[in-house]
Formats: sequence, C-alpha cells, structure tokens
Amino acid sequence: MTAPDAQSNTLALIGNTPLVLLKGPSAAAGCEIWGKCEFANPGASVKDRAALWIIRDAEARGELGPGGTVVEGTAGNTGIGIALVANARGYKTIIVMPDNQSKEKMDTLRALGAELVLVPPTKFADPAHFVHTSRRLAEETEGAVWANQFDNIANRKAHIESTAPEIWQQMGGRIDGFTCAAGTGGTIAGVGMGLQAFDENIRIALTDPHGAALYNYYACGELSAEGSSVAEGIGQGRITANLDGAPIDTQFRISDEEGLEWVARLLREEGLCLGLSSGINVAGAVALGKQLVAEGRKDARVATILCDTGFRYLSTIYNADWLAAKGLPVFDWLKQ
Ligand code: PMP
Repeated sequence: MTAPDAQSNTLALIGNTPLVLLKGPSAAAGCEIWGKCEFANPGASVKDRAALWIIRDAEARGELGPGGTVVEGTAGNTGIGIALVANARGYKTIIVMPDNQSKEKMDTLRALGAELVLVPPTKFADPAHFVHTSRRLAEETEGAVWANQFDNIANRKAHIESTAPEIWQQMGGRIDGFTCAAGTGGTIAGVGMGLQAFDENIRIALTDPHGAALYNYYACGELSAEGSSVAEGIGQGRITANLDGAPIDTQFRISDEEGLEWVARLLREEGLCLGLSSGINVAGAVALGKQLVAEGRKDARVATILCDTGFRYLSTIYNADWLAAKGLPVFDWLKQ
C-alpha cells in the first residue's frame, strides 16, 4: 500500500503546491492574504510548471524526441525547471542567461548539468539579447527545440490548467482577488484566465516593479517605464504572446524598498525565506486587499504567488554589502 500522495513519476512532483495564509500581510490589508508556495516545486520556483508544459507540448507536436536538446534564454528559474524536466525525460539542456543574474542561479544550472552560456545584458532590440541568442543557438543545434517561454503560450497554459484550478480548490471557491508580477506574463495571464473561468468577478491585478512598462500599459495604454528594480525574473517591456489577452482589471506599482520590507517581514515573522519578486507580489496583494476592503468588502480573500526560494539570493538581497552597494536598506539582522 502507498499513501495517496505517493508518486510513481518524479514529474508529478511539479505543482500541487501548498497555499498558506500570510498573517502579517492579512493584518496590513485588513482581509485575508494567501500565498501559493511555488518555492515548494522541485526546482524551487513557479517556473517548473512552465518548463513541464513547454517540454510536453514540444513532445506532443513531435518537435522533441529521444536524444533531443532544449534551448532557452532565461533569468535562471526557467532554466532550472527545464534542466530538471529535461533530465527526467532524457534531453540535454542549453541555457542562455544575462551575466548580471545571481551567482546561485548560475551555479545551480551548472550543477544540474545544463550547458550555460552567459551574455552581457542588453536591450531586447539588440540581436545579442539573451532571448535572440538562445533562438539562434536552437536553430544551429541538431535535434534542438527553442522553449521560447515569452511567446510560447504552453507557458500560460500551465497556469490555466494547474495553478488556477489548484488555487480555486484550495480556497474553496471563495476568492475575490489575485495579483502577481510579470516576467513572461505566463503566471498572471494564465492564473487570471483560469480563475475568471470559474468566476468572472475575481479581480485580477498586475503588480509591476519599477523599470517595467506594464503598469503604464494597463493604466493608460502606453508601454513606458519609470525607475528601475533589482528584482530578478520580473519586469517586462512588451506585450508577450503570453500577456496578449490577459484579463488585467487593475494594476499596482511597487518599489524594491517596499518589496524588500515584505521579504524581511515574511522571513522574520512567518519563517518564509523568499526572493524579491515574492515580496513585491505580497506588497501588491496587500494593496489589492486594501482596495477591496475600501469598497466595503471586509471579508475579501486575495491570493498571490510566492515565486521562488530566497536561498537563490544569498549573495544578493540577503547580503549586507550587496544591498548597501545598491543603495537599498540592509536587513537589521545582517548588520554585524
Ligand atoms: N519571479 C521569479 C523569481 C521568476 O523567475 C519569474 C519568471 N521569470 C517570475 C517571478 C514571473 O513569472 P512569469 O514568467 O510567469 O511572469
């Protein structure tokens, strides 16, 4: 006999992550704020889901077969998810990544057996951009597919078919709002579409970091950015295929300082060690909760995504020298 949660296939460990009530954010918002624990995936981020759906889709279309290679351009987490899924399916992995991402992600990708190609960060219009470099590498490599997470909608399908139904079920069908930031946009678009298929009144909010163009796009129709952010994996300057048609009802812009404050509070008060995009998401969820409460919905329930583990950022947001060099406040307990 095996327990009901025993799995016969390692890939079945992706998804079905826990949902947790966040006490500090709920108190700040005046209503319930829930976090979807995506750091509990095997690759420790929300991107395992996209990796699995993209690889299954390429297999189903006959583009990926035995001995094949998956090539992708990524800030890191998608690469980690792809490397794990590819290993489990018998494929090689080539990952192209900007060289300003955390060292932990680079070390992790190498440890998982991925071939890592580092390129200097540059604007999307530059042919040397990591996304274009990865597409060219895929074209030049025999038996390779390009995962193309930004414009391959198998990415958001992962969230329509898994993340959204899980949240709906875990919240017993009582959810009033959902928000998260966008990198590819797969999570916000897919969860938004999936939740509104259950109940079109669920308010879907985009939470944007500074330096990204989506806040202005959804607020006034113009793709333009202000300021900058050190958050990895989020911040988009264009409407990707995954974002196209996303049901965004409202939007918030959150500073790194505010996101870091929630990262610190979630760690010290709730025992969750998370990356900065999770802190920004929680700040957005508090803003959305406050908005619903101000409209008289005192029993509102809001969900957001806890995207990845903070262990991936020990050399950045959990490092006093790094924070100080970026002009960001240093967590109290790191000052020693
Ligand atoms: N947070 C982190 C840490 C990520 O790596 C990503 C993926 N780029 C996201 C959030 C955003 O997810 P998505 O690509 O689905 O918009």
